[in-house]
Amino acid sequence: MAAATYSGSCHCGAVAFTVEVDPEQALKCNCSICSKLGAVWAFAPKSKFSLTSGAAQQGDYLFNKKELHHRFCTRCGIESYAEGAGPDGTPMVGINLRCLESVDVAKLSPRFYDGRSK
Ligand SMILES: [Zn+2]
Repeated sequence: MAAATYSGSCHCGAVAFTVEVDPEQALKCNCSICSKLGAVWAFAPKSKFSLTSGAAQQGDYLFNKKELHHRFCTRCGIESYAEGAGPDGTPMVGINLRCLESVDVAKLSPRFYDGRSK
């Protein structure tokens, strides 16, 4: 598997997007939000991300350093992606791989990221 274009959405489908991402770069994090959310992430430049519906349906949750915008659907509550910046300042999106169609998260081997210690 390599980077390819995937469609993703929240549970109810109000928030939908396409993104070019490599699911093999999967990552699990133990920070306070990821441990509760249970998300499996992969990251892509925001330029590879396109929100196709739901701009007005989204909430924006910020905590701690308030650098990551956790985007969730205000109808069904699912966080399908988050927005922030990479170490070099490039706008990035973190994709909750569980929200992508045609990606079986059970078949991935996510790396562990110790976000709790950051
Ligand atoms: Zn929804």
